[in-house]
Amino acid sequence: MPTLFDLLKIFDLQTATMLLSLAMLVQAFSFFLQFVLVREYQGIRTVSMAYLGIAIGIFLATLRGFLPAFLSIILSNYFLAIGVALYYVGISRFVSEKYNRMLVTAALAPVIILFPYFTYGNDNITARIVLIGFSGALLYGGIAFPLLRMRRTAYRFTANLLGVSFIIQSLAMVFRTVGLALYPVRDVFEPNGFLSVISMVVFATTFLSAQIFLLMIGQRLQSDLGELARVDSLTSVLNRRAMAQLLDAEFSRRMRTRMDFSILLIDLDHFKSINDSYGHKAGDLVLHEVAQRMRGSLRAQDFISRWGGEEFLVLLPVTGPREALEIGERLRIVIGGGQFSVGDDFISVTASIGMAHSNHCDNLEKIYKFADVALYKAKLTRNSVV
Ligand code: GH3
Ligand code: MG
Ligand code: MG
Repeated sequence: MPTLFDLLKIFDLQTATMLLSLAMLVQAFSFFLQFVLVREYQGIRTVSMAYLGIAIGIFLATLRGFLPAFLSIILSNYFLAIGVALYYVGISRFVSEKYNRMLVTAALAPVIILFPYFTYGNDNITARIVLIGFSGALLYGGIAFPLLRMRRTAYRFTANLLGVSFIIQSLAMVFRTVGLALYPVRDVFEPNGFLSVISMVVFATTFLSAQIFLLMIGQRLQSDLGELARVDSLTSVLNRRAMAQLLDAEFSRRMRTRMDFSILLIDLDHFKSINDSYGHKAGDLVLHEVAQRMRGSLRAQDFISRWGGEEFLVLLPVTGPREALEIGERLRIVIGGGQFSVGDDFISVTASIGMAHSNHCDNLEKIYKFADVALYKAKLTRNSVV
């Protein structure tokens, strides 16, 4: 009665590996398309090149016996090792824009330097298997590390999943290396149950990784677009839409928990004359600076938005009216207390600020109205907080 292990012995590794090389070529093309379509992220083109390198390396290896050793052993493993190293560099640059050169050197140098020796000097397939296995395990582990460590980013889920798939690939490399070091073979394509199982794991995780990486790009794009839709492009603070959502949420929370909040409505004084004197572009730069200075002086829990033209709205959660007026006063000084340097000009600007507290009102509309009335009063003297 043949066992499952016997069945694996008829698994034709050479043909399967040739197909894998073709599949890697398709992945290279698919990631190249991704690179062309999604230009804003680093690393995707490098991953595409990695697949190309791996595809060439695997293909040359399957032609052992048909090609000279230089091509089917040395060049093949060079392509393979450099391909996996590019994979490491690409993924690292995608997630953190940097990578560890030491790790790349440690993984590549032994292969590059010692492969010719263990081919021509001392033809030793086990030594070669150990060298390439060490290199692969190190690089796959290196890819997994930053992915598994990712916590805060919006694409954490796919990143962690990808990390797991590379850990499996790294472990498969370790098993393959240890297994073949203990039970040497004369040819890695000879019928061998152990190698067949390892190969299936490698094939499966290779496809899985490519799929997850594509999903990860999608998840990152989605989150970045969502972020873009929340931020005002001129001032880099929240836009009106995002603030309106926050206020809605804050107001319903208040209905449930009685946790009061305050808002500040901030309108820059005589802003039209700044545009008239220094130009609209200078006015834009002042707006950006004003927004950044205000954001810098607010607490971590506060939110600032550009509410319209030269008007800002600040949401102060769990803040009473007295404290809100103090914060308003701080913002008034932050804006009016120093000049803004724009080109050769130094521009002064002041702000009028109206405060409203959620206690004053039973709906959001009334809170806005209250802040508007307060702002109107502040405008009577300008450069003041009411
Ligand atoms: P005040 O509020 O003190 O009554 O005077 P003001 O000059 O600021 O008057 P108002 O609020 O009515 O006008 C706002 C001006 O702000 C009009 C417009 O020229 C300028 N402004 C609005 N949005 C922008 C912008 O995005 N960039 C620039 N440069 N200027 C803007
Ligand atoms: Mg205005
Ligand atoms: Mg104004």
